[in-house]
Amino acid sequence: MSHAVFHENITTCEECDFINEIPPLKSGERFRCQHCGHVLVSAHKHVGARIMGVSLSSLLMLALAMSFPFLGFSSNGIGRSVTLFNTLSVLLSQGYLVLGALISLALFVFPLIYLLSVLFLIWSFNHPNTLNFAQRYCLRWITVIQPWLMVDVFLVGVLVALVKMNSLADISFELSFWAFCGYVLLLLKTVTLVDKRWFWNQVAGKSPEHSVIAATAKKQGLIGCLFCGATLSGDAKHCDRCGHSVYSRRPKSIGSTVALLIASLVMYVPANVFPIMQTTFLGSTEPSTIMGGVLLLWSLGSYPVALIILLASVVIPLAKVLALSWLCWQSYFPGRKQTAQKIKLYRITELVGRWSMIDVFVVAILTSLVQMGNFMSILPGPAVLSFTSVIVLTMLAAMTFDPRLLWDKDEARSSAPLKRGKE
Ligand SMILES: [Zn+2]
Ligand SMILES: [Zn+2]
Repeated sequence: MSHAVFHENITTCEECDFINEIPPLKSGERFRCQHCGHVLVSAHKHVGARIMGVSLSSLLMLALAMSFPFLGFSSNGIGRSVTLFNTLSVLLSQGYLVLGALISLALFVFPLIYLLSVLFLIWSFNHPNTLNFAQRYCLRWITVIQPWLMVDVFLVGVLVALVKMNSLADISFELSFWAFCGYVLLLLKTVTLVDKRWFWNQVAGKSPEHSVIAATAKKQGLIGCLFCGATLSGDAKHCDRCGHSVYSRRPKSIGSTVALLIASLVMYVPANVFPIMQTTFLGSTEPSTIMGGVLLLWSLGSYPVALIILLASVVIPLAKVLALSWLCWQSYFPGRKQTAQKIKLYRITELVGRWSMIDVFVVAILTSLVQMGNFMSILPGPAVLSFTSVIVLTMLAAMTFDPRLLWDKDEARSSAPLKRGKE
C-alpha cells in the first residue's frame, strides 16, 4: 500500500458540487476543485509515518503539560501557581459546570479523541484484521470534531489574560506552558496532515465510479457525499462508502441557518449587557462587560490587546451574523457579485468564528489564577454562557449553510468556469 500517492478517479466538491477527475497525485501535491478552487486533496509525503510521529509527540506534550505548573501569579508578596488541571477544578468547584465542561471538551476531550482516533486509524492500516466498523467510527469522529478543536484559541487567551493582569500582578510562564505550546503546534500539524479523502480511500477503498462530464453532480443526476467526497447515484440515501446520509442539497439549509442566526442575535444582547467578569480587589467587587473590558485595556494603553478583544468578541460575531444572513439572501436572490467572492466570504466566516472564544478562555484562565479571597479574586459573570452560546450558534449556522445553493443560482448565468487544477 503506497502512502505517498493518492488513488481515486473522481470526487465531488463539497462546496460547489462539481465533479472533478483527480489525476494521479505525487507526494507533496495538492489538488484543487477545477470549478471553485477549494482544496480537495493534499497528498503528503510518508503521510502515515508522519501523522503517527506528530500525533504521538502531541500526546506526549499533553501529558507533560498536565504534569507541571502552568502559570505563576504573584502580587504584593502573595503568590501561587496553577496547573492546567487547576483551571478545571477551580471552575467546577465554584459551580461553573458548563464553563468547566466547555473548557475540558475544547482543550482535552476533543483533542484526545481526535489524536487517539488518528493513531488508531494509521495503526489499523497495517493490521488488515482490525474491525472495519471501528475504523469508520473513528473516521467519522475526527471529521465531526475537527472544527471544535480550540487549543490555539486558548493559547492566545492565555497571552491576553497576561496583558490584562499586567498592571495588577506579575504572571510567569511555568514549565507546562511551554509543553502546552508544543502540544498546540503538534496538534495543528496533525490536523493539516489529515486528509479525509485519503483516509476514506484507505479505510473503504475507492469511491464508486461513474462516467461523468465536467459539471455539477446534480446536473448529472448524481449526489456528492459531503462526508467523504464520494460520487453516488441520484437515488442514494446513504453513502456506499462512509455510510453517512447523503442529499443533493442539505434539506432545510437556509431555514436552519436563519433560525440559528436569530437565536444567536437574541443571545448577543445579554452577552453584551451583563458582566462577563467580576473582579474583587481589596474587598470591593466590580463587574465588567465585554465593552467595559475593551475600554479599560484601551485606557491602560494595551491597544493591540484591546483591539483583539474588540474584534474577536464584538465585531466578528456581528459580522458573521450579517455575512451569513446576506449569503442566505443571495442563495434566493443572487445579486451582481461573483459567486466566487461570496464563497470567499463564506470560507472566511467559517474560519474566524472560533476565535471569538478568546474572551471566554481569558475569563476561565483568570478565574483559576486569581483566587485570593477578598484581597484579589476573579469570577465569571452571567454573560459568559450567553456569549459562548452566541459563538456556538453562529458556528452551527455556518455549518448548516449549504454553499452549493450559491453555485446553483450561478449555474444559469455562468459562462466559463475558473480553471484551477493541480499545484
Ligand atoms: Zn468546488
Ligand atoms: Zn461518503
